Amino acid sequence: MSENNTYPFVNLPLPYAYDALEPFIDEKTMHLHHDKHLQTYIDNLNAALEKEARIKQLPLWQLICYTDKLPQPLQKTIRNNAGGVFNHRFYFEQLTNPSDGKPTGELLREINKTFGTVDKLKSELKAAALSVFGSGYAWLVVDGKELKIVTTANQDAPCNYCPLLNIDVWEHAYYLKHYNVRADYINDLLQIINWRVVEERFSKCMT
Ligand code: MN
Repeated sequence: MSENNTYPFVNLPLPYAYDALEPFIDEKTMHLHHDKHLQTYIDNLNAALEKEARIKQLPLWQLICYTDKLPQPLQKTIRNNAGGVFNHRFYFEQLTNPSDGKPTGELLREINKTFGTVDKLKSELKAAALSVFGSGYAWLVVDGKELKIVTTANQDAPCNYCPLLNIDVWEHAYYLKHYNVRADYINDLLQIINWRVVEERFSKCMT
């Protein structure tokens, strides 16, 4: 998980070059996605928190997942923008090229137990990502101690679960390269997952 988890939020640099994910995700998309879209969520979140002395001390996950405890006029803005910050950091952190292969160890055993094979997991993730109507995410999560695939709408985060991997299916994530073909983007994305990052998340979720 990223540091910089409380106000003022800062747009941390990508952990790789903007063109590192070529040809799967293009450099221009990465610039727009990280420097413009994520930056806007960060700016909006900071602006919403600026005058909220008490709320601005809360860590990001609490802002997202306990939104209904916040003053009503702030709820929508904070849910959308705190979610936008968390979901995008989570997405960018889990990508690498060339992908260092496949899940291993405990995570691999759990994947095989739940889905049969890694390819089967990928096809179920793809189906979930294709099923999101409009903008949102598909997620691989830990539910209790079990792996599960869920989807969220807009910038909602999977608050009831411990997330391992997400697929951003907002059109801004792929439109410049993959146009309207979300399936092609998902196929490309699933080739550049940093499974070492997913394994670290998994071991934290299981402790
Ligand atoms: Mn996005």
